[in-house]
Amino acid sequence: MFADHTAEILYLGEAKRLANRSQRLAILARDGAGCSCPGCTKPITLSEINHAEKDWADGGYTDVNAMAADCPQHNRAVGPKPGQWTTSGVTDGPDTGRAAWTLNTDGHPTRTAPAPPRVNRKLPTRRNPRSAPTQQRDE
Ligand SMILES: [Zn+2]
Repeated sequence: MFADHTAEILYLGEAKRLANRSQRLAILARDGAGCSCPGCTKPITLSEINHAEKDWADGGYTDVNAMAADCPQHNRAVGPKPGQWTTSGVTDGPDTGRAAWTLNTDGHPTRTAPAPPRVNRKLPTRRNPRSAPTQQRDE
């Protein structure tokens, strides 16, 4: 009846802070073999799995749909201040489940317009196996 399912746990809630092996592999298959920040080409071997929706210390869940791979440089660039990035999960369309990055502005409407969320299209994914830095641009 459930021939294609496994018993691997992909949703750990608040019970564990760090992603398990199954979650890492699922994120690799979903997002591609590297950092999820738009334009970054750092490989997943140099990235960490981080909470994209909400930090674990702030009550975020260690669930596969709430995490993404970030290289150390871009992980440090996430935060609430202007010039930093806010990450969230895409909830609709072909990028559902991937991490969306939004550059924080200072909130003043005449100085800086809100930036649209973007996903990294520099790395090949299961959905887009032929993407490469020279073939596609970021959105
Ligand atoms: Zn990066």
